[in-house]
Amino acid sequence: MGCGARPRNFEVKRAGYDNFPEVCMSTTTLPDDPLLRERFSELKPPLAPQAAVIEADRCLYCFDAPCTGACPTHIDVPGFIKRIASGNLRGSALRILDANILGGSCSRSCPVEVLCEGACVMHRLNREPIQIALLQRHAMDAFLAAGEELLTAPRASHSVRVACIGGGPASLACAAELCRNGARATVIERRALPGGLNTYGVAEYKLSAADSLREVEMIRRMGVEFRFGAGVETAADLEALESEFDYIFLGVGLGAMERLNIPGEEMDGVMNALELIAAYKTRHIRQLTGTVVVVGAGNTAIDAANAARRLGAETVYLLYRRGESDIPAFDFEYEHAKQEGVQFLWRRQPTAIRSDAHGGLLLDTIQVRELDSTILPIPDSQFTIACHLVVPAIGQSPFMQLMRELRKIEVNDGRIVANRATGQTRNPRYFTGGDCANGGREVVDAVADGKRAALAMLKIAEAAYA
Ligand SMILES: Cc1cc2nc3c(=O)[nH]c(=O)nc-3n(C[C@H](O)[C@H](O)[C@H](O)COP(=O)(O)OP(=O)(O)OC[C@H]3O[C@@H](n4cnc5c(N)ncnc54)[C@H](O)[C@@H]3O)c2cc1C
Ligand code: SF4
Repeated sequence: MGCGARPRNFEVKRAGYDNFPEVCMSTTTLPDDPLLRERFSELKPPLAPQAAVIEADRCLYCFDAPCTGACPTHIDVPGFIKRIASGNLRGSALRILDANILGGSCSRSCPVEVLCEGACVMHRLNREPIQIALLQRHAMDAFLAAGEELLTAPRASHSVRVACIGGGPASLACAAELCRNGARATVIERRALPGGLNTYGVAEYKLSAADSLREVEMIRRMGVEFRFGAGVETAADLEALESEFDYIFLGVGLGAMERLNIPGEEMDGVMNALELIAAYKTRHIRQLTGTVVVVGAGNTAIDAANAARRLGAETVYLLYRRGESDIPAFDFEYEHAKQEGVQFLWRRQPTAIRSDAHGGLLLDTIQVRELDSTILPIPDSQFTIACHLVVPAIGQSPFMQLMRELRKIEVNDGRIVANRATGQTRNPRYFTGGDCANGGREVVDAVADGKRAALAMLKIAEAAYA
């Protein structure tokens, strides 16, 4: 992701926030930034030890627990909660990690309202659902803070070697599962830091980049190898990997944000949502002022708008071409944005970005109406918003360049086509999972995909050596 043009009201520490190898190679940590920590203080504070036990005691330890069924990685929720209630935090964390190696980041980032907590039987009893995410976090934080290590199986003589392209949740889960079972996995990440969107994308008040890296460090200590700052971009790169590894897992996620395709988009003062979020999470933007307009109304748009508010922007508008009832973001994310002070402008579409006489921006918009599902501009409804920063957030595009280099692999509508149960593509040496295969879902889905693919590779390898 390039740095692109920067608005004048930014405090930018250093050009090229994507490239700071001095931080990443040795320690996989980011320097602490008290201002950032204060501005992005956690949405949900952790449970105190006593409160965790009390909350765990509320669980009914349901048979065939619906919370477990609702989790894409099928974490044994009653099992880990029971261990918290009995004071066995390590056992609880191990139970979580058995199912989901990124149980720490998932406890912070999962939309639990629509997953495990949404399925909790307490709803049917008209009681508050069990705070599963906070309990999971309680166990995982204790485990990670203690620097606990996960055991891996002794290497089998037929040890399969796998290259996982991309350093996000899908590849991390795939590599970790392989390592746990005695295989060798190497994660190859284009960017300077591993973790994918856990490090660069998920809102800091949910999951900090530092917490993401702490989890990656646990995976590295399991024996997973990492190559950072190394993109796999060409057919020659892929051939080199094919000769070094038995299988290749494609966990490349989605690409850059879609462009608005309106005049003025290349100007200083336009920065897409992923660039803005990555820049503040990696300490390269610490302050915004004035008015910010975010275009789009998905979860990423909401994250960018909330970030702009927390970075100091006085006014943040979120512009959406449809109405309030059509907003694609989760309801709880929409409610959260309203609490952060984000203002919503419905049925507006940007038409051009111009600079004003004082070096600011003018965003021309038009009102639209919907006829069937078609958006139609309303004549003579132009409206201009004076602002300092425009943030396009209308969805991510696929990595088409890499996709074109992939031989014998089917790509449909920007997604890599694969067997859903195994992640295997039409090329039997290539597996895939995460956003590049599912079109963009949640961290937990990427983890589930990565693990499934690892288990499928191991099964095939074992059959070959039997
Ligand atoms: C702004 C934002 C906020 C989000 N917030 C949440 C949230 O709160 N909760 C939640 O559950 N989900 C959230 N998501 C979704 C979640 O982050 C993704 O579903 C998840 O990260 C997908 O994991 P992945 O491994 O498939 O891809 P990614 O996390 O995107 O990782 C892919 C990695 O591959 C690397 N890569 C790409 N191409 C190459 C190449 N050619 N060579 C080497 N490396 C390459 C990329 O640099 C990247 O690091 C959010 C997404 C966004 C965009
Ligand atoms: S559904 Fe709720 S009460 Fe039942 S096991 Fe899961 S968390 Fe506990």
